[in-house]
This record gives sequence, C-alpha cells and structure tokens, in this order.
Amino acid sequence: MGTLAPLLPGTVTLVAGGPGDAGLMTVAGRAAVEQADVLLVDHLAPQEALAWARPDAEVLDVAKLPRGRTTPQERINELLVEHARAGRRVVRLKGGDGFVFGRGMEEVLACAEAGIEARVLPGVSSAVAVPALAGIPVTHRGVVHGFSVLSGHVPPGHPTCTLDYAALARSGTTLVLLMGVANLAAITAELLAHGMAPTTPAAVVARGGHPDQEVRTAHLAGIATAAEGIAPPAVTVIGEVAAFATATRQLEETR
Ligand code: SAH
Repeated sequence: MGTLAPLLPGTVTLVAGGPGDAGLMTVAGRAAVEQADVLLVDHLAPQEALAWARPDAEVLDVAKLPRGRTTPQERINELLVEHARAGRRVVRLKGGDGFVFGRGMEEVLACAEAGIEARVLPGVSSAVAVPALAGIPVTHRGVVHGFSVLSGHVPPGHPTCTLDYAALARSGTTLVLLMGVANLAAITAELLAHGMAPTTPAAVVARGGHPDQEVRTAHLAGIATAAEGIAPPAVTVIGEVAAFATATRQLEETR
C-alpha cells in the first residue's frame, strides 16, 4: 500500500479521483476507498472506483451539477464533520485533484474548525491529464517553458474574475482552461484583443479518458466556433503544444 497509513476512525481523507477513468487514480487513493466506512462522491469522480469500496460502506452522492441537482458546499462540509464525529472513516472522492478548482481546502478548513483530522491524498488533475490523454504535453522543451491553469467559470470582466487576461495573453505559457466551455468565445475574444496571435494552435478535449472522449482543434480565432455543441466537461489548451493534439485516445479500454 506504499506509504499510506491505515485510515483512522473519526478522520476524513480527501481522495483525488483523477479525470474520470478509475485506472488513473493513485494506489493510495484506491487503498483509502477500500477502507472507507462512508464515501462522499462527486459526479466527476470515477464511479467505477466505488466497486473497490467495502460492500457495507455507505456511498453518498453529493453532486454539484452545473445547472442541475446540487448539494451546497456548506452541506458537504457538515456531512464530512458529522460522519467523522460518528467515528467513521470518511473518504471524500472527487474528480481530478481536489486542490485544483476542487474546493478541497474549504473541506480541510471545515474539518480543522471542527477538530477533525483531514488528510489530503493528491492525484491526477485534469489540467495536465486531459491534454495528455489527447496527446498534448502542457510543456515542451524548446517550445514552451510553462503553463497557466485558468478557470473559465466566469467570463473576462466579470466582477468576480481575478484573472489578468492582458498578462495571460503575453505570458508565453500554455493556457489550460477548465470550466471554460460556456465562456470560450468571450475568453478567446479577450485574448485576441490583448494581442495573442489569432493563429495560435488551440484544442478542446471533452470527456477526457472516457470512451466518448472528443477532441476539436482550430486556431485561437476559430476554436470557439469549432467547439460549438461540445458537451462538458472539457479542457481547452491554447498554445503551440496544442498542435500535437491527436484524435486517438491515449487510454485504451482495459475493462
Ligand atoms: N479538481 C478537478 C477540476 C474541477 S473543475 C481536477 O483537478 O481535474 C471541473 C473542470 O475540470 C471541468 O469543467 C473540466 O474543465 C475539467 N475536467 C474534469 N474532468 C474532465 C474530463 N474527464 N475531461 C475533460 N475535462 C475535465
């Protein structure tokens, strides 16, 4: 089981579920799932991983679907604390890595406030893995020496948007956009307005690692049109490395 100490009763373990295929979870993450008394699971978490849970483990679906069924974060925090206080080994299983746009720290802090020990098992974030599943490296020697991971949840200019798009446009890094399907046209327009070359390669990778993975490619100026009708979740890559995109899935069906 590597370095993972056994889960203790009355504690919470945050487990990174990876981008969707259970095969991309960590060994420690799997061991935690196997030991859990109760699992709180998101809709982007690999549902097949639940087959590793003990038959008597309780599984709670705490999905936060965009425009759909939702469990408020405050309620999730309460549930983590309640179950831990009841002396159970609690596993919080989410998609990707909970510390990348995953509200993981909010859960750690809620546990800390309640005096509950919370352990974080890091894992595979879609920010790097989903491009890779479409053949795109986020960095490439001699081409690009960095990457920036952005949330496109709110459009540029929105009061809660903290991103400096002028700086991003000239950053010289690969831009990796999460939660950006709905605002893709506004985001690409903003980057173009700040001088990013319209011919910059771009790719949208939807449902990375799932059997229906889909890749659309275009130049920056045309990617929003090319991505029309695409079903989330999707990651958009903007930068020279996006030219490496392949339509072939890098992950074969192993089940
Ligand atoms: N904590 C997660 C990200 C949560 S935000 C992580 O580290 O991966 C949710 C966003 O992640 C989605 O809107 C999408 O941009 C991206 N995403 C997650 N899984 C994905 C997948 N299988 N394929 C494409 N994008 C995915």
